[in-house]
Amino acid sequence: MEHPENNEAYKGLTVNKGIEQPSTINPYQRFNRAKKRAIFSVNDYVEGILKGDITRLSQAVTLVESTKPEHQVVAQEVIEKCLPYAGNSIRIGISGVPGAGKSTSIDVFGLHVLEQGGKLAVLAIDPSSERSKGSILGDKTRMEKLSVHPKSFIRPSPSAGSLGGVARKTRETIILCEAAGFDKIFVETVGVGQSETAVHSMVDFFLLIQLAGTGDELQGIKRGIMEMADGIVINKADGNNIEKAKLAATHFRNALHLFPAPESGWTPQVLTYSGFYGLGIKEVWDMVYAYIDFVKANGYFQYRRNEQAKYWMYESINEQLRNSFYNNPQIAEMLTQKENEVLAGNLTSFTAAHQLLDTYFHSKPD
Ligand code: GDP
Repeated sequence: MEHPENNEAYKGLTVNKGIEQPSTINPYQRFNRAKKRAIFSVNDYVEGILKGDITRLSQAVTLVESTKPEHQVVAQEVIEKCLPYAGNSIRIGISGVPGAGKSTSIDVFGLHVLEQGGKLAVLAIDPSSERSKGSILGDKTRMEKLSVHPKSFIRPSPSAGSLGGVARKTRETIILCEAAGFDKIFVETVGVGQSETAVHSMVDFFLLIQLAGTGDELQGIKRGIMEMADGIVINKADGNNIEKAKLAATHFRNALHLFPAPESGWTPQVLTYSGFYGLGIKEVWDMVYAYIDFVKANGYFQYRRNEQAKYWMYESINEQLRNSFYNNPQIAEMLTQKENEVLAGNLTSFTAAHQLLDTYFHSKPD
């Protein structure tokens, strides 16, 4: 049979002349984007930050969070220049499961600490935030009063990347905020485990917000998280929940006795309060300040910061080595092949790793 395409009447492959399409690029938007992404010089950022210019601070934080190598180069220089002006703050980690009342509490805690003057930055570490487009933690609408306070700076969690990467960016943001004159830093995180360890490694005081439950609240909380806490506060101690909250506090106090004494020499305290009704807020902060005085007097404050600086040096080395390894073009090419050989049982995991590392160490630096 004659093929239809050979028939002259066949039009299947002809293209009708269409109408001219408008450009897909909106020239106005392009202009806007270019403006938004402008990179200033290192000195512009540093001068702005040291003057306490919030816009410049925000822009610098955006650079810190950027994954682009050219942004990272500028960001690292800015951080380095800000470092001599940093460190002069108290850094408080605040953790609790979703619904524990972190945003409500941070709003009132923030106003309380600002009553005594100074400036407060609220940062967050939430490695899961990519899923919800960065809105879980640090979202301005969650801290209504604080977000409109002229002395506060609220920044959501850096969204992309591994927990280590997200945490490093938050730690670098602390440095920039301190250089901009923020003398109180809150770092918020959800109480789900690993992110607590990251927050603990960058704060002076770790505050754990808990709720009174049915009496078995201790079961759900990981021992490691309790051990990190310098203070445990039971929220929602209001209305007919007061007695339950007091009972929960007793349970936590008893449980804390079973842990080895913390290195700081401080005995972690357990208090009850109500973030929503503003009850017991002063007592919570009296505890935090008492701790700071205590550890400043016994030298643990500086010791902990030094240990943290050391920890972050090694973390940065690990992160950079890992990135350099996986971004190496030769490695990227070999990786799946070696993985398949291991899966097929033709190569042991150790030999595969050894061959990959060998290739990496003998590859030319970029
Ligand atoms: P987050 O998820 O930890 O940030 O918790 P939120 O601050 O969003 O609070 C979760 C819910 O608990 C909200 O409905 C709050 O109104 C409520 N809540 C927070 N603090 C208190 C409190 O002190 N007492 C009472 N009764 N409810 C509170």
